[in-house]
Amino acid sequence: MKIRAQIGMVLNLDKCIGCHTCSVTCKNVWTSRPGVEYAWFNNVETKPGIGYPKEWENQDKWNGGWVRKADGKLEPRQGGKWKLLMKIFANPNLPEIDDYYEPFTFDYDHLQSAPEMKHAPTARPRSLITGQRMEKIEWGPNWEEILGGEFSKRSRDKNFDDVQKEMYGKFENTFMMYLPRLCEHCLNPACVASCPSGSIYKREEDGIVLIDQDKCRGWRMCVSGCPYKKIYYNWKSGKAEKCIFCYPRIEAGQPTVCSETCVGRIRYLGVLLYDADRIAEAAATPHDKDLYQAQLDIFLDPHDPEVIAQARRDGIPDNWLEAAKNSPVYKMAVDWKVALPLHPEYRTLPMVWYVPPLSPISAAANAGQLGVNGEIPDVRQLRIPVQYLANLLTAGDVWPVERALERMLAMRAYQRGKHVDRIENRAVL
Ligand code: SF4
Ligand code: SF4
Repeated sequence: MKIRAQIGMVLNLDKCIGCHTCSVTCKNVWTSRPGVEYAWFNNVETKPGIGYPKEWENQDKWNGGWVRKADGKLEPRQGGKWKLLMKIFANPNLPEIDDYYEPFTFDYDHLQSAPEMKHAPTARPRSLITGQRMEKIEWGPNWEEILGGEFSKRSRDKNFDDVQKEMYGKFENTFMMYLPRLCEHCLNPACVASCPSGSIYKREEDGIVLIDQDKCRGWRMCVSGCPYKKIYYNWKSGKAEKCIFCYPRIEAGQPTVCSETCVGRIRYLGVLLYDADRIAEAAATPHDKDLYQAQLDIFLDPHDPEVIAQARRDGIPDNWLEAAKNSPVYKMAVDWKVALPLHPEYRTLPMVWYVPPLSPISAAANAGQLGVNGEIPDVRQLRIPVQYLANLLTAGDVWPVERALERMLAMRAYQRGKHVDRIENRAVL
């Protein structure tokens, strides 16, 4: 056993209000530079939706992530360094600027000086790149929210493909949620494996994945290789860039910018201890086995004295062990299992975890799921189909999502019960 420490993040999707503050503050700090105008190290997507860049989840299109070979071993889907020459001439499946969207701004001068007209507004967005007015916006990162895609109630518990087929059903059955996304700082990163220059590396001390800007040669294999499409090519510097998990702030004991500025307070940072010797085995677990659980099993209990002793022998400093003991990420992802990984079937072992949304909470309340009388929660009464969440978070396995939702419902009922007790006691007094 070889123990390593990893910093990770939990996002409680129930609390995300889609305000994009995280994206904007991250952009102001890290990517407000020429060459990366289109890049959002942190972005917030509307789900269900095609995402940013478009169709990032379609690995057949981009050749991202890992595949299991016949002998059970893993290899980067795009073939690793050996097929480099072929890939250079065959085009390595890169998203184009239109897949990200064209950044736009508004003609503010026109907004102030336009003559009074019958109908407002009068200014159309203008392309930052070409300066041309955009006659119509065909797509943007929150396109689905704008269109208000509709999903039929009948499509509950079916696969997303079926749900899509039944789109444009009844408006009152619409559901949507927000999904903030950043680099997953994976334990088994496909970007590292696909870089021919060896410029991407995972830091030994905290697991943050970084790109050495001096070594990067702009091959962009990482862009196609990352299944989450969280690497961006800087057209000015000719180098690849990605979320750095605000490592200068982490080193100074501060939270990431997105965590600190999150309006909904949905983000939790914490340390996990894991057995590095078991990564390959966990990542190569066959799809028909419990992929989510296999990936969870590599994490170790930071309260176990034997684990602590071994971690010390493996060079993990005491302050990190203390952080692991108090880690909300360990509590929510590993202990309580209410936070789940995003697309574990990509086999990169992502380290950003999501508490699935119960929302809209009023629907749960109407379904009698938020009472304090000990009702057994039925998560299938919730508005967002459990199968949809499972396809997003547990490679299609419904039961871990149901367990997480039931625990969230139970916690709410408990907290409400305490609140009701307090009110009643006060009334008696
Ligand atoms: Fe690499 Fe981040 Fe993509 Fe994982 S999510 S493969 S660490 S760029
Ligand atoms: Fe969601 Fe927080 Fe980002 Fe707002 S700042 S979009 S609440 S993650």
